[in-house]
Amino acid sequence: MFIKLLDKNLSNMIAAGEVVERPASAVKEMCENSIDAGAGVVTVEITGGGLSMIKVTDNGCGIHPEDVSNAFLRHATSKISKPEDLNEIYTLGFRGEALASIAAVAEVELYTRTTEFETGMTATANYGEIENAVETPGFVGTSIKVSNLFYNTPARLKFLKREATEAGYVEEAVRKTALAHPEVSFRFISDGKEKLFTPGDGVLANTIFTLYGKDVLSRLTEVEREDDGVRVTGYVSDITGAKKTRNMQMFFVNNRPVVSRMMINAVEEACKGIVPNGMHPMAIVKIDIPADCVDINVHPAKLEVKFSDEGRIYRAVYHAVKNAFIKPEMPKIDVEEKVETVPAEIFRPASKAETVLRQPEVPYQSLETKAVQVPKFVPVYKKAEKVVIPRQQTMQEQVKLEDEKIADYKIIGQIFDTYIIVQKNDEMLLIDQHAAHEHITFGKIKKQFEEGEVSSQQLLVPKTVVLSGVEKAVAADNLELLRKIGFECEDFGGNSIIVRGVPEVLDIEKIDAAVSEILSLISAHKTDITPEKKIKMLETISCRTSIKAGKKLSFAEMDHLVKKVFETSETVNCPHGRPAIVVVTKNYIEKQFYRVK
Ligand code: ADP
Ligand code: MG
Repeated sequence: MFIKLLDKNLSNMIAAGEVVERPASAVKEMCENSIDAGAGVVTVEITGGGLSMIKVTDNGCGIHPEDVSNAFLRHATSKISKPEDLNEIYTLGFRGEALASIAAVAEVELYTRTTEFETGMTATANYGEIENAVETPGFVGTSIKVSNLFYNTPARLKFLKREATEAGYVEEAVRKTALAHPEVSFRFISDGKEKLFTPGDGVLANTIFTLYGKDVLSRLTEVEREDDGVRVTGYVSDITGAKKTRNMQMFFVNNRPVVSRMMINAVEEACKGIVPNGMHPMAIVKIDIPADCVDINVHPAKLEVKFSDEGRIYRAVYHAVKNAFIKPEMPKIDVEEKVETVPAEIFRPASKAETVLRQPEVPYQSLETKAVQVPKFVPVYKKAEKVVIPRQQTMQEQVKLEDEKIADYKIIGQIFDTYIIVQKNDEMLLIDQHAAHEHITFGKIKKQFEEGEVSSQQLLVPKTVVLSGVEKAVAADNLELLRKIGFECEDFGGNSIIVRGVPEVLDIEKIDAAVSEILSLISAHKTDITPEKKIKMLETISCRTSIKAGKKLSFAEMDHLVKKVFETSETVNCPHGRPAIVVVTKNYIEKQFYRVK
């Protein structure tokens, strides 16, 4: 006999891996139990990133003493009882797995009391078996303490990050749960320090305010609309709150945080023209739909959901967000363009290239994600395929500028608010203003970096930047590196850092964006900070700093930039490898007009 049935303890340990992946997932499950129990106040305390201890206390309905022994058994739940109930789930939990899973991989202590009883009880759960149950006086509600998580599954422990990072994940989980439930007051305490507190007054804006601060809230536009039985509410930012990553996008379905590519697409599609290419709006978007229109039982941690009619949800979210950006001074009409058929590609993850192609030209788009289009000088009477693209025009080619540094040149003007046309000897140069400027800035700070550190300017008024839990942990760990690239930062307690100095080249308004972009760069990919990564950071700074495409330049500004370009003797490419200059020779132009052969 080779196939054996696993004993209960072992099968619980295996299942625990699915539901309880890290301290944050245990916290999420426990908070959801508190909400299901009708709690108005939930306190989450952790020590050592949740690995030493997690304690979730609530003022919910409590567990009846006769139910306590069942609560920790697998598939023991008070929330559903028959198959039909699965179609209409109004509670967050329903599988009866969480407590059993947690008890399989940690030591659990419980306190609980319902209103029917004068006193509560405490007990410990040893692999789901309730032990040491004793009557204990106390409040109505429940408090569950989980100690030494994963003590018996060393393999799982190895996958976890440093305590501070795990604490950051826990914080994110509490934040998300708090955003999903503005009617519940959450308090989060890590290693004795209070990190979060939400008012629980039912107002989402107040929850956002206490979690992220006034600055973030001021960049958000309220979304509220009902379409075809789908109610969409929440907040979305315009360009001022846009980020390089999607870290600040959160979606909720019937008050449950979910991951949904379709909802991301709906929001980003609606933000086209409002948020530049390659950037992502901040979004906290909730939809409410009848429970039978969504299947939440398709993912172990219930993070993904399945809608019976994705197109309907997509349209509702898209229109709600689109409408939110119609200025109040304009009469608020429904956006005409109906998305009748939903493009099939929205339902699968768009590759970076696809996203790029589908995005329209917007004036302030950041160029580095835009596909480079080699200008086609196609004369009216000539077929396109006959056009020979001169050697200089291929994207990979680098344009080497001759030694004559201050050459004889004439600025003709600017076209499409993006390219400067310069006539120089026998050539016409098309200079991409953003790429050229970025190149110059990058060259400058890279040199400074290699020689020591990027030179920094002190801010007259130091700036506080509010970060996410993970970003904060990353910042605290990398203060020295940040200093080397020109950011002088200090821990400011809570979730903030204080920025005292920034790279000389950086605009003051761009500080938040640059800092959070750099921190997400450091935290991404989970590997060490490689030299390439450092270079990427410098690129970020130079990109943030440079004149954007789509900006009309005065003659003086063009002159200044073009002079700088000619002073730079190296090959002129923007750090992302796109050309900053395309050269069209006089000979090429003449050929197009059949003046020469
Ligand atoms: P589920 O939430 O899927 O029902 P859990 O394992 O998370 O499964 O919880 C099992 C049962 O324990 C719940 O159905 C509920 O009856 C009870 N329970 C758990 N946590 C609490 C709490 N904080 N307050 C009241 N009851 C709770
Ligand atoms: Mg549960």
